[in-house]
Amino acid sequence: MNLVVLFGSIRRGARFIAAPAVTLAVAARIADGGLRSHALHPLDGVLVGAGVVGLAFRLIPSRRGTADGEHPPLDLGAATVFLALGYALTSALGGLSGPLSALPLLVLAAVVALGDPRRTWVVAGCAVLLEVALHRAAHPTLEALSLGLRLAVVLGSAALHFTLTRAEVARVRAHARTMLHDERRRQRDSARSLRLGATASQATARPRSSDDARNRGSLEEIHASLVGLLNLTRRTMQLRTCALLWVDARAQNLRLVEAASDDAIQTELIPAGAGALGAVMQLGRPVALAALRPDYAGLPYYPTPSGVRCFAGVPVIDDDAVRGVLAADRDDDRPFTAEEQATLESVALQARRLINNERVFARLERIKNDMTALFEASRSLGEAMTEDQCLAALTAAAAAIVAHDLLVFTAYDPHSGKHRVRHVAGDGPAGLAATEFADNGGLVAAAVRARVALPYRGQLDPKTQFVFTRGLALKSVASVLVLPLVARDKALGTLTLCAQRKGAFPDAIRQLLGVLASHASVTLANAAAVRRLEEMATTDPMTGHLNKRALETEFEQRLRSAARFGRTLGLIVLDIDKFKTVNDTYGHAFGDVVIKGLGAVLARCRRETDVIARFGGEEFVVVCEQTDGAGTFLLAERIREELQRQVFQSEHGPVKVTCSLGVSAFPGDGDSRAVLFERADQALYAAKHNGRNQTRSASPTEAPSDAARRSPVSARRAPKAQTPKIAKSA
Ligand code: GH3
Ligand code: MG
Ligand code: MG
Repeated sequence: MNLVVLFGSIRRGARFIAAPAVTLAVAARIADGGLRSHALHPLDGVLVGAGVVGLAFRLIPSRRGTADGEHPPLDLGAATVFLALGYALTSALGGLSGPLSALPLLVLAAVVALGDPRRTWVVAGCAVLLEVALHRAAHPTLEALSLGLRLAVVLGSAALHFTLTRAEVARVRAHARTMLHDERRRQRDSARSLRLGATASQATARPRSSDDARNRGSLEEIHASLVGLLNLTRRTMQLRTCALLWVDARAQNLRLVEAASDDAIQTELIPAGAGALGAVMQLGRPVALAALRPDYAGLPYYPTPSGVRCFAGVPVIDDDAVRGVLAADRDDDRPFTAEEQATLESVALQARRLINNERVFARLERIKNDMTALFEASRSLGEAMTEDQCLAALTAAAAAIVAHDLLVFTAYDPHSGKHRVRHVAGDGPAGLAATEFADNGGLVAAAVRARVALPYRGQLDPKTQFVFTRGLALKSVASVLVLPLVARDKALGTLTLCAQRKGAFPDAIRQLLGVLASHASVTLANAAAVRRLEEMATTDPMTGHLNKRALETEFEQRLRSAARFGRTLGLIVLDIDKFKTVNDTYGHAFGDVVIKGLGAVLARCRRETDVIARFGGEEFVVVCEQTDGAGTFLLAERIREELQRQVFQSEHGPVKVTCSLGVSAFPGDGDSRAVLFERADQALYAAKHNGRNQTRSASPTEAPSDAARRSPVSARRAPKAQTPKIAKSA
């Protein structure tokens, strides 16, 4: 083994156990009556020396940790050794009755304050241990009151520190969150004041996170170009400050867009009517001021009077309205000439163009992103084959288009006229997922009736409107959008989006979601049609069991897997006895009732892994996994007895029917589908031939004797042919 590695491991191990060892040893010595000034043992010296040396080593890395601010000044080891040394000193100088009896409590307070808050309770635990040791040395009989008081001080100081630290951590976190939130809001306000592709209604909605990123990118572009323009103006005209300010969405405040200056410029909102800037805003033409007093406070883009001597401001006009001010000022007494003011007007025009270009660019970018979201949605909707896949694609696409708190898909059944909540994503009220309701005065029902998106403008008025049913209150939902899903003139249901904030679904978003909904409707209708076709292709409509074709595929699969894993597979073929007579006597419709009844008997007798199919007419097949010939025979007998007990009510009174069954099993009776079916058919034929209402096995020696023992009905049966078993029951 590598010596260096070995040495490293020993060092790490020693470092790990040294501090607890010193603490425990000190506690043991104190409790033992050692560590006293009048009877110091050489061992005590070694112990204290080890503690001091260990502490010195521990403190070196701790100091480095302090510098980066991540680690507390004292690590756990150093804190406990410090504490142990405090107790050792107290004990040496007279213990609890000595002059330093309060020292350990002071040391504890110090190490807890300087240590890692997460380890406070470990340090407090060490202090309790040492405290008990100190008491034992002082009072051979336990002095509960004095020990209790000191322990209360120990634990109290730990609890106090722990609580204070947590409160401080929580305060710092909350502060950081607020700062982050404020910064985001400032950025959005800035984007809005530049009207970056925002209509008035959009401006009130919370932007999507992709909007945040897009606004940031556009703003950086604007600022970079503006900084260049303003710096150039400042240099060529020898200005102290050249700043561009823009009005907010309500035209009440000005906010700094960008400035070229060495001064600190006001970044807070400035009332649009304030000072010289207000004059430019109100007049809508350039304003020049000269020979300003040093205490002139009419330039609100300086937080304090700046001492500038001359000022010129030109309005930035956009769509015939003053949208901002370009401000320029100088420290010296050179008033702004008409020529200079004209230059500033050109700069203002240039700035406006920059912002306009950027606005168009941002709007294009927004359209592009909306198109991308729609394209993505239509791609995933196109790939969706089932209704569940379609709903998943719809949910993902809606989330990409607009931030919302709840998405609900309701399905509408035109036959029953009922709406059913089929899919919920997000926080809905309890019980929403299982809600079913009839046509009512709610928004969902109304949207399906009228086939238009509701409510008008997307604002929910909870006093007069409800979304699903009146009893199902959607708490703190301010915005709702119910989109009807209509395909080929048939209403399939609705897509409902809810958000807690107001104005979450402005016109542009409603249009986009409308396109999404109409695409999703077609996909949902197709998925439903595919599902119906698949069901028709594999199930027998009368009994709901598999049809012949589906069973053949299923049987083939199960046979293959039985062969691969060396398992058995049972097959039952059954046919109602004298069924033609049933039809002839009671009518074809009643015959159908009997066939359905046999289907229900089979469904009751089946085990979970059995497969049942109607093979045609009144002939059924059961496939039993992991079942040998004997087991299959038993199941067949159970089915036969169950059918025999069944009473069908006809117009002419109660009717009973029987059936005959043939059984074969893999591998005993064959190893292919064809052979196994042939053997089961032969057994069925034998059962019919032998008198009906009985089960016959393809391998008679294997199962029936065993089964017959347990099945009195089959054992009792006479071998001779019986009269048709169609009898009116008693
Ligand atoms: P056996 O005991 O030998 O089976 O006599 P059977 O009269 O039952 O003879 P078979 O099984 O050949 O007769 C099947 C009859 O079932 C023929 C047909 O009229 C009837 N059938 C087939 N499909 C349906 C159906 O969907 N509904 C009804 N009611 N009868 C059907
Ligand atoms: Mg029959
Ligand atoms: Mg038949």
